[in-house]
Amino acid sequence: MCEMCRRSPCHPRCPNADPPKVIGQCVQCGQDLTADYTYYSDADGNLYCSKECALDYIGVTEEEYDE
Ligand SMILES: [Zn+2]
Ligand SMILES: [Zn+2]
Repeated sequence: MCEMCRRSPCHPRCPNADPPKVIGQCVQCGQDLTADYTYYSDADGNLYCSKECALDYIGVTEEEYDE
């Protein structure tokens, strides 16, 4: 049992807890994606940390119609 949080396995916030498992990197910004956060994937299997990164990567931009 852990001496810090008195749990086994450790509470996620315990300083002795194992770092979250890295499941990949965002293909747009390179940020590590960990199993305890939401991530996004596309039909090609690319992983993204956020919808913004996904849209940037595939080149979607937000436009306003301007007459
Ligand atoms: Zn602990
Ligand atoms: Zn990203």
